[in-house]
Amino acid sequence: MKTVKTPTYNYIFEESNGLFYRWGKDQNDDPQYSPIGPEILDIEVSTICSQGCKFCYKSNKTTGKNMSFQTFKTIVDKIPTLTQIAFGIGDLHANPDLWTMFTYCREKGIVPNLTINGNISLGDARYLAAICGAVAVSNYDSKVCYRAVNMLQEAGLKQVNIHQLLAQESYTQIIDLMVDLVDGVVKPNAVVFLSLKKKGRGQGYTRISDQRFSSIIDYAMKNNLPIGFDSCTAHRFLNEVKDHPNYKEIEQMVEPCESGLFSSYINVDGIFHPCSFAEGFNYDLDVVNCEDFLLDVWYHPLTMGWRKKLLLCNRNCPLYTI
Ligand code: SF4
Ligand code: SF4
Repeated sequence: MKTVKTPTYNYIFEESNGLFYRWGKDQNDDPQYSPIGPEILDIEVSTICSQGCKFCYKSNKTTGKNMSFQTFKTIVDKIPTLTQIAFGIGDLHANPDLWTMFTYCREKGIVPNLTINGNISLGDARYLAAICGAVAVSNYDSKVCYRAVNMLQEAGLKQVNIHQLLAQESYTQIIDLMVDLVDGVVKPNAVVFLSLKKKGRGQGYTRISDQRFSSIIDYAMKNNLPIGFDSCTAHRFLNEVKDHPNYKEIEQMVEPCESGLFSSYINVDGIFHPCSFAEGFNYDLDVVNCEDFLLDVWYHPLTMGWRKKLLLCNRNCPLYTI
């Protein structure tokens, strides 16, 4: 259990199951951002990926860079408020220091979570199940994806999700996936839909139409399917279910964009951005060479300006049309 107590911001994090409770001055007060640094970090530990997805927003290729363990350790040591780290990697074995990074996270009471492209061995599945809090398998090829989900579940991991790109071009794949969920072909903890952001190779893709977006939610709800969305999609989803009789309950489970408020992204070079899609928007701050993360990054005028902008637009995406 990790706890933080301050007059205006408090949390309790249960490392064993990922439950997180946050409150402000009292339990009815919801703080707008963490005054002491991010709770969650999305970190890019490699840019090497042989998957070659046509929509890859990072434009990753078979050649690229790895973050060293020393750089990783320097970053993690500078942000003591972290509870969970989401590791961004293409090929699982691209970075030889990945396992050491996971071990270090656990030593510090931080839960490591990972998204993979599905190409894993039985040994990988066993290791990931033993050390990660949650693993998401991206659905590029259903056979590869379902195989990886099954292997992880058989290895004992409960939080195994499927990540599914939400775009006009992936609609048929989404329908196939949902039919497979109904038929029990694959039984993930949840399918998490990630809205297209037109960045990198994703620029040639198309935002999913309102009609298709509606039909996906409608089908999932009618069939009681376990679905979720990235925080980027929160407002679009809430708008879709605004007339649902259980709207108030649904709303409790939806958290809009929290980048630069409660979470951060740090790329393979150790550079901070509010989120991974914000690279190229001039919010870059060097974490590895900063003296004090709070003063030099979290309360830097660039980050404070970002925070103000995000809160002013009610935590709707300031960068992309979602
Ligand atoms: S989207 Fe993921 S799996 Fe596909 S090329 Fe990019 S990093 Fe690799
Ligand atoms: S800034 Fe936009 S793209 Fe980034 S996490 Fe927030 S909603 Fe998503």
